[in-house]
Amino acid sequence: MAKKTQQFEFKAEMKQLLHLIIHSLYTNPEVFLRELISNSSDALNKARFKQVTGEEIQSPKLDMKISITLDEKKKRFEIEDTGIGMTESDLSERLGTIASSGTLAFIEEMQKNKQALDGNMIGQFGVGFYSAFMVTDEITVETRHADPSEKGWKWISDGKGTYSITETDRNTRGTKISFTLKEEHKEFAQEYRIKQLIRKYSNFVDYPIEVNGESVNSKGAIWHKSKSDVTDEERKEFYQFISNDYNEPLGHLHLDLEGRVNFKALLFIPKKAKRDFYRNAEFSSLHLYSNKVFVQDDCKDLLPEYLRFVEGVVDSQDLPLNVSREVTQHSPAMSKIREVLVNKLLGHIEKWADKEPETFKTFYDEFGPLFKSGLNSDFANRDRLIELLRFHSTWAGDETSDSEKSENPEWISLKSYAERMPETQKEIYYLSGDNLSELKHDSRLEYFNKKGIEVLLLDDPVDAFIVPAIGTYQEKPLKSIEASDLDLPEDKEAEHEVKLSEKELKALIEIFKKHGGDRLEDVVASKRLVDSAVTLTVGKSGLDSQMERMMKMMDPGMDTPNKRVLEINPSHPLIRNLSGQLAEGKTEWVELITRQLYEGALLLQGDLKSPGEFVKRMTKMMEEATQG
Ligand code: ADP
Repeated sequence: MAKKTQQFEFKAEMKQLLHLIIHSLYTNPEVFLRELISNSSDALNKARFKQVTGEEIQSPKLDMKISITLDEKKKRFEIEDTGIGMTESDLSERLGTIASSGTLAFIEEMQKNKQALDGNMIGQFGVGFYSAFMVTDEITVETRHADPSEKGWKWISDGKGTYSITETDRNTRGTKISFTLKEEHKEFAQEYRIKQLIRKYSNFVDYPIEVNGESVNSKGAIWHKSKSDVTDEERKEFYQFISNDYNEPLGHLHLDLEGRVNFKALLFIPKKAKRDFYRNAEFSSLHLYSNKVFVQDDCKDLLPEYLRFVEGVVDSQDLPLNVSREVTQHSPAMSKIREVLVNKLLGHIEKWADKEPETFKTFYDEFGPLFKSGLNSDFANRDRLIELLRFHSTWAGDETSDSEKSENPEWISLKSYAERMPETQKEIYYLSGDNLSELKHDSRLEYFNKKGIEVLLLDDPVDAFIVPAIGTYQEKPLKSIEASDLDLPEDKEAEHEVKLSEKELKALIEIFKKHGGDRLEDVVASKRLVDSAVTLTVGKSGLDSQMERMMKMMDPGMDTPNKRVLEINPSHPLIRNLSGQLAEGKTEWVELITRQLYEGALLLQGDLKSPGEFVKRMTKMMEEATQG
């Protein structure tokens, strides 16, 4: 009896996507082969997993392999696998929709900008299967799911608007995809061409691939080979195969461990973060195998989040296979593997920091913001991570003593800061802000520059969260120079300068206090001002200004009555003059100028609420000053 055929329509978005794929974007149609082989390999992984975990599967004796059959005369292409297969609902749900939701928007954007869609990006979009519509006008998929209770199905589509599904009497597990090639793509029915492409794109697929009955050798699981049997070229190819990255990796680790926990791993640190890497906090790329049997893609449990840029394969027989993910996740073997991996990776990065500063800098520039966050989560490795932090600083450097300086200007480790510190210095100083060149010219550095005290300049917003959490380094507290309670040495030179008396100072301070109202914690005589008359510092419980700004950015409604301390410079001529005028009874004038000084300091911090008033007062003062 003839089986009934059902017609379905693609969703509107899908139609649009198909149109874009076929007509405007693909520049290298050959990648369709890689996409189909990769789908077959995934399907075989799933079938093998089912089998080794003792589940009953359809046609259990069938070899796990991929067979490609070509007919050059008829321009026919066919690829068949003995993988997991698809159920009727898989066919309409998985072959009828787009996997990743942002895909269409992204492709449209690229099209608008007249960018070519790189073949290397296709796999990441979840549109792999459809790439075959570049080379054919109609695809037939015949499939039977590995679950013995499922039936066989045939799916046919022209990739334009509709597809049909018919029940069949196929009795073997797996999927066959077949089509006639378009005239302009008939080369893909040639044996030599297909073999060449398999070697180019699919050399590491862990199943035999046959072309017209002849096996095209694949390299298989190279992480199982010993280190010395893998060439640099093979390793690079393998990296490109698993990562879809066309760059070479920045570094790699090939591990074979036996003892407390047994596993093999081939790990890579990329040169560049992938598209979306920082926007997608879920992104990770470690694949988990158990004795060559694929267990899990993108395994998040093998490494802490701050190392999620690492790509590669981990293979361990110690993991229980036939259990759910949650159990694997919490198994003792998993946490041991994780511990060893973190240890080895940090060791590798430390070696870079020590011996290959350029490589380290490339790494730190690209992944530093994420890597640093480990300090707030991986407490076991905190001390090692602290040593790996690098900062800009006010240190001018000297050519003779420090190699770090000559190779990597402006990159300072806390260790090198501490080594340069004079014995009398009791604290490590930093200043945070948005931008390095502004930070370098910040007036709050005046005193420190004059005294030759080094200050770390934190221009990465992440640092504002990391550095305060360090607390102390080699028993020296880390302090923002904005803080009012710095433990600065007494200034011997300043004793010779003309200063105000206690009484004069007190009278002036009272006037300044009136302006600040409850926004000022205190007004004090400054130990640190050189050229400026006044400055604002952060009171005992306050956040430094950069931190405060960021908190406000995250929560605009937040009310931070962050109290400041106003420091005035008793040896500054303006302050001395003001004191003199106050003694002469020119109170109103002194009030005007002190208000202007206070608001000027607020303005510098981006905190002045009423710039209009400020300018009006300034105009009035200029008017008085210019009256003959
Ligand atoms: P992706 O592979 O990125 O998920 P595809 O469009 O290539 O996107 O495939 C969509 C889905 O169709 C796959 O996730 C899989 O569920 C199913 N599929 C495709 N090819 C096969 C195959 N050979 N065997 C079993 N399932 C397949």
